[in-house]
Amino acid sequence: MKTQSNHFVRQSERNIQDKGLSTAVKKATRKAFEGRLKAMGETSIEHGEQIRMQAAFVKRRVLADLPYFLELAEQRMIENGMRVLWARDGEEACQQVLEIASNHKVAQVVKSKSMLTEEIGLNESLEKSNISVVETDLGEYILQLNGEWPSHIVTPVLHKTKESIRDLFIDKTDMPFTNDSRQIAQHARKILRNAFLKADMGITGGNFVIAETGTLCLATNEGNGRMVTSLPRVHVALVGIEKVVATLKDFATLTQALSRSATGQKITVYTSMIHGPSRPDEADGPESVYVIFVDNGRSNIYASKYAEVLACIRCGACLNACPVYHQIGGHPYGWVYPGPIGSIITPLLNGLENASPLPYASSLCGACKTACPVDIDIPAMLVALRNDLIENGLSAGVMDFVMKTWMGMMTSKSLYSFSGKAASLIFNKLAIEKILPSPLNGWTKYRQFPEFAKKPFHAIWEERGKKQ
Ligand code: SF4
Repeated sequence: MKTQSNHFVRQSERNIQDKGLSTAVKKATRKAFEGRLKAMGETSIEHGEQIRMQAAFVKRRVLADLPYFLELAEQRMIENGMRVLWARDGEEACQQVLEIASNHKVAQVVKSKSMLTEEIGLNESLEKSNISVVETDLGEYILQLNGEWPSHIVTPVLHKTKESIRDLFIDKTDMPFTNDSRQIAQHARKILRNAFLKADMGITGGNFVIAETGTLCLATNEGNGRMVTSLPRVHVALVGIEKVVATLKDFATLTQALSRSATGQKITVYTSMIHGPSRPDEADGPESVYVIFVDNGRSNIYASKYAEVLACIRCGACLNACPVYHQIGGHPYGWVYPGPIGSIITPLLNGLENASPLPYASSLCGACKTACPVDIDIPAMLVALRNDLIENGLSAGVMDFVMKTWMGMMTSKSLYSFSGKAASLIFNKLAIEKILPSPLNGWTKYRQFPEFAKKPFHAIWEERGKKQ
């Protein structure tokens, strides 16, 4: 998918005006945020913090030796009967899937939710080759019907109301009118069951790959992941190279941190641990299992000062905690990864010049870092990206002008004192909201500008000194 992140401001303004959307986003994110707090503090706040710190530690430990653990994972997976491929970028990964499909004479594919396949545009590639693809996660299926991309990492349709989903099913499928969400879900289930039974190939992502055992792990709640990996003849998993974990014990820590942070559950309803194709004495399971490790820019991140972002386990907690995301939802971020984590990953994977507003899409309040189960310092990375934008001459010209003017004032005592007095005289008399030209009025359009103090602090301080 082509990034549209440079339209962030325009899209955000549009979404802020959309009351239905912002109500749906606020309601869903508040529920998820409270669920995470409850689940993390279930035993005690200290215990929740211990899980978080342990998860942060195991991710950093594996990242420190990532090439070794990737090779170990490959070796163990091959021993388990899986075939392992490596893809430098999205195009190569899509090509590999198409070759597997052609070798196994695949006409129909079912997919379980995978952000990586959204990232590389796998569905479009399959469809171009006349292979039919059905998303089987309910949220993703709704998006596929409507031709949209996800607005949240975990709950992709959180921006939609029940009514809009109902109307979509009536419009795009043969569903009769109903207001009952259970009936809507049952209708979708019927369609999806059919797709599972017809599919030749199942495609998944992978939440984790355990290096020591060569296990592919999937965390799902709807059971579709299990159907996708057990009914079709062929299973292909596309996994980002950062998804490898060292040991089964580390997986146990991370899966707890993931489900508690993502959906407020102690563990997801289905935790699938796949060791390979079906064995001769097993009735179910695919004949062939392929795992494609996808780089697509991750090695460059690994070699940069942003390597820590590869610890992300895509739980979505930073989105649910972010006051900016609450207001605008996910689509204004313009690519598959929205919210605070998207504001880092999108410019890193697509180029700063293609996502220059995103590092500024944060108030730097720190709620994302506090919520993050692997303690990624998101605000510090956003500040570093802002710095990169300036150093690469990519920051908005007006921002440069404002910052340079500000620096000039702050480093000259006489200028600082003069501008303070002038501001209080001029702006307190006039309503500043009304006189600021665009784009400087971007802030005051929605907020009251506080009055300048009649007497600045340093003048009061000097007076006090003299009196004493
Ligand atoms: S940055 Fe942290 S909170 Fe955000 S999705 Fe990744 S793991 Fe979750």
